[in-house]
Amino acid sequence: ITLDKYANKKPTPPPELNRQAKVVVSVPEIASAIINKQFTTYFQPKILLANGMIKGVETLIRWQHPEKGMIMPNDFIPLAEEHGLIHDITLQVLEMSLEWLQYWHAHGLNLNVAINLSSLSLADLGLVEQIDQRVSNSGITPQSITLEITETAVMADVALSLNSLARLRLKGFGLSIDDYGTGFSSMQQLARIPFTELKIDRSFVDGASDSLQLSNMLSIAIETARKLGLHCVAEGVENADDWVLLKRLGCDTAQGYLAAKPMPGDELIDWIKQNSK
Ligand code: C2E
Ligand code: CA
Ligand code: CA
Ligand code: CA
Repeated sequence: ITLDKYANKKPTPPPELNRQAKVVVSVPEIASAIINKQFTTYFQPKILLANGMIKGVETLIRWQHPEKGMIMPNDFIPLAEEHGLIHDITLQVLEMSLEWLQYWHAHGLNLNVAINLSSLSLADLGLVEQIDQRVSNSGITPQSITLEITETAVMADVALSLNSLARLRLKGFGLSIDDYGTGFSSMQQLARIPFTELKIDRSFVDGASDSLQLSNMLSIAIETARKLGLHCVAEGVENADDWVLLKRLGCDTAQGYLAAKPMPGDELIDWIKQNSK
């Protein structure tokens, strides 16, 4: 008998699947949302497969639009990137995440927070400095922060990415390669960059327990992480069979609707209380 509460759990239907069709927004609306601080942060737990404990959370931005309601990142982040607004959004997300970290610390919770960095940020050395400065000012150590960068973003220009990423790593930030498996990088290329974590894209995770092809690819990705000495995370874990498979294949951490959906920062404390033990 395994004492793994997630191994037999039925996932609750996530509200995000019921969300409305794509919301159309304009560039001036995004600019105004930055000025008027209409963004908020949700947090999704990353769970250690070995013991079910929370390892950290990923920050996921939400836009609370005064008329259009809650807008999801895929509906405005690409436009913000295209029009030079992502820099300011990244800094707001960082600041909100730091405030929540301080709040959780005050409640005795020592969590790591992962923040998504846009591909464009890798060319922005000013941003690297601004991130470091804000973290120093907050009294939070860079070791409490992981920066997630997609595999495709890094591989688009390894030399350029290496510069920003090496600086961040030297300062103590964790570096995660996000959406791994979608970018066709070689082990050699990966080894050049000082990553600390490899996050397998959910297209390899969801349904892997029912597909020999997916489970083989999953196993190779987990093996790659191990050979590179990286902490291995699987994203998009929605069902118990995939959870059990990941555990068996030696993946370190799982993130997905099975364990928890993204939630506001104050709900996280209740969630941890209810789910520890
Ligand atoms: P991502 O970094 O790959 O984040 C994971 C996405 O998968 C999130 O969607 C999350 O809510 C969703 N997800 C989590 N568990 C499951 C699951 O079990 N099943 C399924 N089907 N989905 C799951 P979300 O919050 O809509 O974010 C979408 C993308 O927007 C993110 O993908 C990331 O690329 C981007 N994003 C989110 N927040 C930020 C941010 O602060 N800055 C930047 N630059 N990009 C962000
Ligand atoms: Ca991510
Ligand atoms: Ca991802
Ligand atoms: Ca993904």
